[in-house]
Amino acid sequence: MSDIKTDNRIETVSKILGREKGPPLDDENPFEAMMARFDRAAELVNLDAGLYRVLRQPEKQIIISVPIHRDNGDVDVFTGYRVLHNTSRGPAKGGIRFAKNVTLDEVKALAAWMTWKCAVVNVPFGGAKGGVVCDPDNLSMGELERVTRRYTSGLLDTLGPDSDIPAPDVNTNERVMAWVMDTYSMHKGYAVTGVVTGKPIEMGGSHGRRDATGRGCMIATREALTHLGLPIRGTKVAIQGFGNVGSVAARLLEELGLTVVAVSDVSGGIYNPNGIFCGDAAEWVVKNKYLEGYPSAEKITEAELLALDVDVLVPAAVENAITGKNAHTVKAKVICEGANGPSTVKADEILEDMGVFVIPDILANAGGVTVSYFEWVQDRLGYFWDEETVNERLNDVTTRSFHDVLKVSQDNSVNMRTAAYMLSIERVASVHQLRGVYA
Ligand code: NAD
Repeated sequence: MSDIKTDNRIETVSKILGREKGPPLDDENPFEAMMARFDRAAELVNLDAGLYRVLRQPEKQIIISVPIHRDNGDVDVFTGYRVLHNTSRGPAKGGIRFAKNVTLDEVKALAAWMTWKCAVVNVPFGGAKGGVVCDPDNLSMGELERVTRRYTSGLLDTLGPDSDIPAPDVNTNERVMAWVMDTYSMHKGYAVTGVVTGKPIEMGGSHGRRDATGRGCMIATREALTHLGLPIRGTKVAIQGFGNVGSVAARLLEELGLTVVAVSDVSGGIYNPNGIFCGDAAEWVVKNKYLEGYPSAEKITEAELLALDVDVLVPAAVENAITGKNAHTVKAKVICEGANGPSTVKADEILEDMGVFVIPDILANAGGVTVSYFEWVQDRLGYFWDEETVNERLNDVTTRSFHDVLKVSQDNSVNMRTAAYMLSIERVASVHQLRGVYA
């Protein structure tokens, strides 16, 4: 075993970056966007060159074939991925997505994102992500179950409450997590609740998990407004995306006293300068599937929503919503990134020049993984908390994490995103330094 600092004393991240200049950045590629931010923060914390090389690579990349019987008796084979980026701080944690366009590169980026996210909020997990290349809209319930079970059984050596703990992600939900838990448990011979999070409450899920990401966004926004000396009551918010994250953030920001003037979904946006009643809008979506046609508000486009004269903008829908092309239209003073990767690297530069205070995704939307950590703790203890306790503890973790990042930002005169990466890289790196390289 040797210390991780090897022969790298004269080698620095800056030198490596200078020497290994690749092609120009593809601003809308999530892997490149994540790596660009990692590189910048690694340089600023003067990360040891050996460690830089370690953290740039995922620890494990698994590709499996997922054969299933279709309902008509045919056999179809799907491709499944699981990537463990880093497990130095604890078991790997990260969702499973089912989508047509899943790629190994995307899963690698998302796994690394999870490493930084878990470290920012200081929960004892590493980062992972998984996916199956399939179109869930073209799978029956039975086929979806068979895909889930075969994917899980293909990963039995990797998954486990001490090694790798999945959660829901795009197109997967509590139902899918229940199948993952059952498949894993059937192979073990007993119920292993801690192997997944985001499960139904009846089988070891946590109270407060469903609202956790939106609640985290609300807490981070509240802290940002207080820090900037802006009022809470009457402060205007626009929210892109009205799904799990966006609709909960909207409801909780409204409860806090802010005025939600616009929300949108894939069908377009709605705007009312006097405020939208978020509970009403959510009920409308339950009945009509989309916001489209919602009365008591005017229709607006996506571009108009992002450019509204509001104090807070919450992009909570998709990657690359704010880019080099539209960042200059933003009028909000605060952006709370509910989605993963909603702003590109070029957008970051423009927003920083404009003085916009951006709460970065790895901090703003970490409420979900924080309560997943609570779920795992409760499963391991076999002792469950009520919703109030979960929400209080989430409030503590998010508030403390916001101020940890803010301090790094102020001490180093960098924006909140760079500060969040600096903090998380230092937390992961310090564990690597202590553990050394086993060889
Ligand atoms: P969701 O599927 O519940 O909701 C997505 C919403 O975005 C829907 O209202 C959809 O109509 C809308 N949408 C899709 N494309 C759009 C577009 N082009 N313009 C406007 N709206 C559009 O998903 P979610 O769970 O709310 O996740 C949203 C984002 O938050 C994703 O980036 C996800 O990775 C991220 N995130 C989610 C969680 C979580 O716990 N759910 C945790 C961390 C990060």
